[in-house]
Formats: sequence, structure tokens, C-alpha cells
Amino acid sequence: MNNIYLDYAATSIKHFDIFKDVINELENIYANPSSSHSLGRKNNILLKNARKNIAKSLNAIEDEIIFTSGGTEANNMVFNHIENSFSSGEIIISNIEHPSIINCAEKLESKGFKIIKLNVDSSGIININELEKKITTNTILISVMYANNETGIIQPIKEISTIAKKYNILIHSDIVQAYCKIPINLKELNIDFASVSAHKIGATNNFGFLYTKSRNIKPLIIGGGQEQGLRSGTSDIFGALVLSKCVDKTLNNIEYLKNIKNYFLEKLIESNIEFEINGNLEKSLPNILNIYFKNIESQRLITYLDINDIYISGGSACSSGIIIGSKIITAMYDKNRAKNSVRFSIGFNTTKEMIDIVINNIKKLEDKLLERR
Ligand code: PLP
Repeated sequence: MNNIYLDYAATSIKHFDIFKDVINELENIYANPSSSHSLGRKNNILLKNARKNIAKSLNAIEDEIIFTSGGTEANNMVFNHIENSFSSGEIIISNIEHPSIINCAEKLESKGFKIIKLNVDSSGIININELEKKITTNTILISVMYANNETGIIQPIKEISTIAKKYNILIHSDIVQAYCKIPINLKELNIDFASVSAHKIGATNNFGFLYTKSRNIKPLIIGGGQEQGLRSGTSDIFGALVLSKCVDKTLNNIEYLKNIKNYFLEKLIESNIEFEINGNLEKSLPNILNIYFKNIESQRLITYLDINDIYISGGSACSSGIIIGSKIITAMYDKNRAKNSVRFSIGFNTTKEMIDIVINNIKKLEDKLLERR
């Protein structure tokens, strides 16, 4: 059987057709886009057009897109900016952020900033009233992810931004998982910063960008002054061109993903496997399903599917090897629910036939486990 990859939220299968097209395009244009000779200028135009297209995907403008080595660096840039612009203050994040936010926030905490972590309930969504209550005259930044990487649950970023602007507070959103999976209009959202990763949509690893409305953001990496002096290092023209093309392809694929996700759910219901969806399905991305299986521990399911060439993600093992469930599902429910929850994340290559195979396998495992009881 061919591999069935359902771990796109960890990293997407690459759009290798696009990689090949871009290699062909760049074969004779190898110059540094910052070089002043005509070959460099040609590359600079390619880079400019890619940036324009990427900016358009978020209703942003070219100058607001600062290419980075990915989502982690973009998130670090925001916290580095805060650290270098304020001597103290309060930062509000959610308790389900990616480690690149949590660890940046904790670093600032060790330097005297106060960090407030907002809880989520079983819907996976923060409470807007609680957010507003936590704001003080010392609040300098609110950073809440657009959609969670384990559940796909979408946060009310527009409402958060409205509150942030009311109190004149900077607002950042890690939009790594949501980017191109749902339409995002940054002008309308009126946020200051957003972080994006290229490999989540089939482009290259170690590439992405920070959207920043302000030109005054403090650079994290200094050197030759590329990216308007905000992020130095020779431009990754290949990364930018591939990302630009992947953006178009991924945006055109949203309906396909919705369709496959609905099919997955219909088939799960039909199968009589005992399950519940984690979080508010109505407020989730079209490519992620986080599911609690009443009769199957997550690690057992992951291993069983792995043996059958099906790849999914779930809770992780701690250093003693004991399976601990996902921290996100624990934050939304409890440890027991987390121990039996896994993430399926689909992508452009996922077919209904694959879903049928996956569900048959889960059913087989559940039957085996119930038989043994
Ligand atoms: N933010 C979220 C929500 C993510 O899911 C990830 C990747 O797993 C990142 C940030 C980090 O992005 P990158 O891998 O580009 O550093």
C-alpha cells in the first residue's frame, strides 16, 4: 500500500512540481538580487513580484512583508522588538500558543515583563471578556494565534484586535496554520504583526515572513541591511518564488479540503467508531480534525496506523517514556481526554480513498481492543 500522509499540519508534502518550475526559471538567473548588474536586477524583479503576490494573499502591501527563516523567527522578531522597545510591561498570550511564542514570552518574563496566559475552554477558544479584564495600563502586547496547530480551532482575531486598538496595545497573531487555509484580510483585521511559515503550504522549509505594519520594528538579525534593514542575509529568491506559487495553489484548494474533511467526518459517523471531536468544529480550519477516541489510546493508534503506512500525530511521550497526552487537549479538557486524542491533518494530496482506508484501520483496531476486554 502507498503511504497515507495525514500530518500536513506538522509539515505539508512539498509541491515538487512548483519546485521544478522555479528551478527552471532560476537556472540562468543565479545572481544576488541585491547586486546592481542586470542579472541581479532581473532577480530583484522576480523577488519583488513574488513579494507582491504574497502580500496580496493577505490584502497587505509589499513593504509590509519581511522574509524570514520561517514562523519561529517571525515570532521571535515580535518578542525581540518588545524586549528592545520597552523596559517593562505586560504581555497577554493564550495558553495554547506554539512553543516559539510560549518560550519567547517566558524569556521576557525572566527579564521582568509580566506574562498573562489566557485559558481556553473545551471549544478551544479564548474568552474575549476575560481578555478585556486582564488588560491594564501596563499592557503592551497581545499575541494570540489565528488557529491552533493541534486542533485547527480559530480564534476571534478581529474581536481581539478591536479590543487591542481600543486600549492602544500592539497586537500580533501567529497565522502559521491558518495562512491560505482560510481567507485572511490583514487590513480588515487591523493587526500590527503576523507570522507565516512556508513549509505548511508545501513550499520550502526554513522560509516564511513577518507581516509588520510598522517600519520601526527592531531587527533580530543585523548585517547587510536586506529586507529594508529589518532582516539581513542574502535573499532566498528560491524560497520566495516557490512560496508565491504555493500561495495561489493552496488558496485554490480550500473547497477541496473542506470536502475531504466533511467526508472524513461522515465516514467516521457511519463506522460506529466511538469518537468525539475536540473543540468547536464550526470554528475550525478545513484541514485539521482533532479527535478523541473513547476506546483507543492515542499512542496505540499512532503506532498501529504507522505499521499500516498511515502517518498521523498525537500526544507525545515524556522523558520516562510514559505517554502523556497533548498539552493543548489537556488545557481544553483534561489529561484523560488528551491521552486518547489524535490529530489528522489533510492536504492537497489526500483522497477519499485514503480516508476510507484510514477509517477501516481505526475500526479494526477498535474492534480488536474491545474484543480483548
Ligand atoms: N507557529 C505555529 C502555530 C506552528 O504550527 C509552527 C510550526 O510547527 C510554527 C509557528 C513554527 O514555524 P516554522 O516551522 O516555520 O519555524
